[in-house]
Amino acid sequence: MKSAEREGLLDDPRYKNGLPADHPVRRRENVFSFSSVAASLELMQMLSIVVPSGVADVGAQVYHFTDGTIGKEKNRICGNSCFFNTVIARGDRAGVTALGRHAVAEQAREVQVQRELAPGRRA
Ligand SMILES: [Zn+2]
Repeated sequence: MKSAEREGLLDDPRYKNGLPADHPVRRRENVFSFSSVAASLELMQMLSIVVPSGVADVGAQVYHFTDGTIGKEKNRICGNSCFFNTVIARGDRAGVTALGRHAVAEQAREVQVQRELAPGRRA
């Protein structure tokens, strides 16, 4: 099911309507709290990287729901042969498909590329 979410299939009503009646997606489980805390933690970590605070890298963080703690991995740095060094600051142009295709995101990127290529476009 993670794959279906990552690929954007859950954004397509045709996908959901085609699932069997006993499929887990149809259980109407509310995972909003977990999704919002994951998004919040990602945003806070990104902000900690870009907002000047004297700490350039707080390290990897893992939130533990059961006891409410956040684990940290300190002082871990990439070695010379680490793949991530080759994709720093390349964004969508890194050529990496980390979690699978996401049809809606790909469509949005294509629209953006077409806008950038449009004649008479102002910078
Ligand atoms: Zn690394």
